[in-house]
Amino acid sequence: MLLFLDSMKYAKVDLHVHFDGSLDLKWQYERAKLRNVISADCSYDEYAYQMYRNDYPSREERMKRFDIPLAVLQTKEDLYDGIYDMLRYLNDLGLVYAEIRFAPQLHCLNGLSQYEVVESLCEGMRKANEDFMIRSNLICCLMHKGDSARCNHQENVETIEVTKHFLGKGVVALDLAGYENNCSFEEYGYLFEMAKEYKIPYTIHCGEMGKGEHVPLAIQMGASRLGHGVQCVQNDAWVQEVIETQIPLEVCVSSNCYDNKDFKGHPIHILLKMGAKVTINSDNMNFIQTNVVKEYELLAELGITDEVLKQCMLNAIECAFCDEETREWIYEQVCW
Ligand SMILES: [Zn+2]
Repeated sequence: MLLFLDSMKYAKVDLHVHFDGSLDLKWQYERAKLRNVISADCSYDEYAYQMYRNDYPSREERMKRFDIPLAVLQTKEDLYDGIYDMLRYLNDLGLVYAEIRFAPQLHCLNGLSQYEVVESLCEGMRKANEDFMIRSNLICCLMHKGDSARCNHQENVETIEVTKHFLGKGVVALDLAGYENNCSFEEYGYLFEMAKEYKIPYTIHCGEMGKGEHVPLAIQMGASRLGHGVQCVQNDAWVQEVIETQIPLEVCVSSNCYDNKDFKGHPIHILLKMGAKVTINSDNMNFIQTNVVKEYELLAELGITDEVLKQCMLNAIECAFCDEETREWIYEQVCW
């Protein structure tokens, strides 16, 4: 019980949580029925099975699970309600701040423009920020798609333009998400040159499960934070760069250990020991069946001390993409 209270004390912020992978299961099942995304006779258990089945032949294949909630999140109303419901949940969990990420281009299957997608999410989030104590911001993801950055060049450029429009009005940064080993990582560099010109800060998914060499590449591309980044441990020079630059890592332990459950073997232990700037996050609350509170509990159980967990929390507040007034407010809420 004491462990639970201790970890609750620090679990106030989540900087890496995906909208589509984090929706409440019951909420999305009901919406999927309402929108005829699933057949009328599909039971809740069948829907849950499709979501949680773990017999995909590869990690790439497993990412197709995202198609299920994404099929629901294609109207202004469902985007608005979905983010509102997610923030209600995070607020109930005791979080005071969250940065929720999503790829606008994945919500345009039924004719919405990326602009309308972001606008609807901003509106739902604004209402939640008014109704609940939690404050939040959005991160727009560019996507890896196909075997070349050319495959969705147009969609990614549009995401940057839309992010520029909503920057400081609900959106705080860009990201690059999707299956990172599909094609040459460097191909996406030109998109971040554009982001730099527009003065949009960004984090980049890299070194999650596959190639650790993406970590120094993402640092070179000018990322302010790294989504995961933990595979830098594959090479001493890459770890050294992470330590020397003190680039914040958005670490999501349960998500990385989804297949092997080897929590003790996760690189977070080495990274903390070596002095990397670690933050603790949930990634996909629904798919992984976790949340940031559970992540802190897990790490406490693995023997990471309260002092270190507190530092991870402070790191998250320090490197959040929010404005300074919000950052001050978050510090005030976090009492130990
Ligand atoms: Zn992620």
